[in-house]
Amino acid sequence: MEWMTGALCARADPDLFFAVGTAGPTLREELAAKRICVRCPVLRPCLAWALDSGQAHGVWGGTNAEERAALRRRRGPGAPRAPLSTAAH
Ligand code: SF4
Repeated sequence: MEWMTGALCARADPDLFFAVGTAGPTLREELAAKRICVRCPVLRPCLAWALDSGQAHGVWGGTNAEERAALRRRRGPGAPRAPLSTAAH
């Protein structure tokens, strides 16, 4: 995973990317993580990896677990990897 060398989150508070809970401070932390992701030069490979590896927790590639689940449903099982039009910001 060579792309990880460009990860902006490597210099950020990991708690932002793996906040626990579903409301209040957790949502603010998730939003802060996503704001880092949108500036990250490796957002696309990060999101592709998170989708392919089934990451079920945390913010990866500017998405939370629910958003990735929705993207996987849209892609369908066994679908070939395709450019993710929703990943570009
Ligand atoms: S897109 Fe977000 S989670 Fe992925 S490497 Fe960049 S900062 Fe980290």
